[in-house]
Amino acid sequence: MPTPESFIHMAKPVIGKAERDAVNAVLDSGILAQGPVTAKLEESFASTCRSQHGIATSSGTTALHVALLAHGIGPGDEVITTPFTFIATANAILHVGATPVFVDIEEETFNIDPSKIEAAISPKTKAILPVHIYGHPCDMDAILAIAEAHNLIVIEDACQAIGASYNGTPTGGFATGCFSMYATKNIMSGEGGMITTNDEAFADKCRLLRNHGMKERNKHEILGYNFRLNDLCSSIGLAQMGQLADFHAKRTANAEYFSANITSVEAPIVKDGYIHAWHQYAVLLDDRDAAAETLKEAGVGSSNFYPKSLTKHPHIREAIGTPPDLPVTDRISSQVLCIPVHPSLSEEDRERIVTAVNSL
Ligand SMILES: *Cc1c(COP(=O)(O)O)cnc(C)c1O
Repeated sequence: MPTPESFIHMAKPVIGKAERDAVNAVLDSGILAQGPVTAKLEESFASTCRSQHGIATSSGTTALHVALLAHGIGPGDEVITTPFTFIATANAILHVGATPVFVDIEEETFNIDPSKIEAAISPKTKAILPVHIYGHPCDMDAILAIAEAHNLIVIEDACQAIGASYNGTPTGGFATGCFSMYATKNIMSGEGGMITTNDEAFADKCRLLRNHGMKERNKHEILGYNFRLNDLCSSIGLAQMGQLADFHAKRTANAEYFSANITSVEAPIVKDGYIHAWHQYAVLLDDRDAAAETLKEAGVGSSNFYPKSLTKHPHIREAIGTPPDLPVTDRISSQVLCIPVHPSLSEEDRERIVTAVNSL
């Protein structure tokens, strides 16, 4: 029987000497609010995404919220997105008063299907908000081409995709990028978010919105929010960014080990030219819930990200009325199960995971 100590959890934040030293340095400095460490974290994200600017926010959700507002999206506007994502993607659209329009996903990557986007465009459409789900980049060439043809804004929800790329372009570097540094994400700061962009005026607008419309003390240019990130959190994020290549290599090695050794189910697809961030390693199972129970008994954690289309949540249903048909999302969300792939897995953990999954 697995003991509680040996249970393999879905996520295990890396908290080592780098993180502890970074937090202690901020405590010693006495500057706990947003300050020089947050500025360094912003530079680090910008350079990783090969973007000109990084704007830190309090979470991935507020990064999306600020990005939508700074692009001028609000009541009466429609934003095309995926129904197969964390609720925050759609909530941010609702927070700014806009309406999400859901387009079904691809069978292979579980990302929004570009071939179905144009049918969803209306005169009210302002933006496309693709999500690089699990860390596999969306087909950005196709999405950017549609956006260009219809004069639409593109905001990437890259919350699961730091470290991913397509044809050499990092996710978050194709358009406006939004990231999360929630405790279970590939790079974490406890809570935190980041916007990446090449547009200086847009970056300035994001900075105003994040901090009560204020550039100079007591001068409030617009209605803003307190969506700041503090230097304590940023110090953890910055320590983690120094290990991004190592974390990514470990996640990739774990995923490759699973794909080579798991024989009971199909391995997740990585399309040619794409570098996967391996935030999640997802398999499809006919009886997903029973499988999760069997894995649990073997001491292996798993998670059903995401068990239903976002259109099935009551507040989303209220906002959109009759939902569109989303057959691929409905099937995938009923079958998908994610298994641990985080960088802290030991050799033995990996073997136990493979044995448990192969027993299904
Ligand atoms: C985590 C996540 C978010 C929200 O980020 P928070 O930091 O938790 O607010 C948004 N979208 C996706 C796809 C996510 O995985």
